[in-house]
Amino acid sequence: MEQELISVRGLDVAYASGAHALRGLALNVGIGERVGIIGANGAGKTTVARAITGLASAFRATIRGGRITLSGRDITRWPAWKVLREGVVTIPEGRGVISDMTVEDNLRLVLVGLPRAQRSTLAEAFSMYPVLGERRRAMAGLLSGGEQQMLAVARALLARPRLIVADELSLGLAPKVVKEILNGLSARAAGEGTAVLLIEQAAVLSLQFVDRAYVLDQGKVVTQGTSAELRRAGDTTARYLGIADLERSEGLL
Ligand code: ATP
Repeated sequence: MEQELISVRGLDVAYASGAHALRGLALNVGIGERVGIIGANGAGKTTVARAITGLASAFRATIRGGRITLSGRDITRWPAWKVLREGVVTIPEGRGVISDMTVEDNLRLVLVGLPRAQRSTLAEAFSMYPVLGERRRAMAGLLSGGEQQMLAVARALLARPRLIVADELSLGLAPKVVKEILNGLSARAAGEGTAVLLIEQAAVLSLQFVDRAYVLDQGKVVTQGTSAELRRAGDTTARYLGIADLERSEGLL
């Protein structure tokens, strides 16, 4: 088993609205490991991403109990900037690229203020996704949805993070495009030893890229296993995801 990077124990999170999103959630991610979180709508996936990256309070959510540690340090109530400084980077649902800045400038923005050793060059981002190099002077808002997602992924990796938390990368994109994005992400993360927490409703696709995954339902882990195990237990996994058949669910993307 890989050395532990992130550990979450008994995490309990509720929104000001009253929604009790996480109920005693436990998971861990090892150094350089690729781990998936899958689950139906409203299972609590995005809330996990927010809690780990220090963004819960920004969404009027409170961590009521439990503990999140990063390499053994308690980061449960750390603000987002401090978690980021420790190398935990999020690619939020909806991408967050700045539309009226060029591709290049979107990337450069991340490099400002980073110590040199922590910086990768723009060329590295362009080698990850060559289309970004071809369109480097285009306004980001003019890129296709898939290209914008590539920009968001490349940008997140520029700071050489220890962990990338990617929330619903597949949203609104064709499976072929998502695969291209995930291939680029996987290759670069493996090369850099970056761990990936891939949060996805698109279970079949996710299981092709992660080593193992947690299935969430109503704020709890209901089952977990290697990708092969979860695929083999297709019926059970699918039931938790609220779909009829795991193998046929790819069309749901
Ligand atoms: P989806 O795929 O639909 O985003 P999810 O698995 O990511 O689902 P969450 O978004 O974490 O699930 O939602 C878990 C619960 O928390 C749901 O009941 C949801 O309605 C609630 N919730 C999520 N975000 C907020 C918010 N900003 N304010 C109030 N309640 C929220």
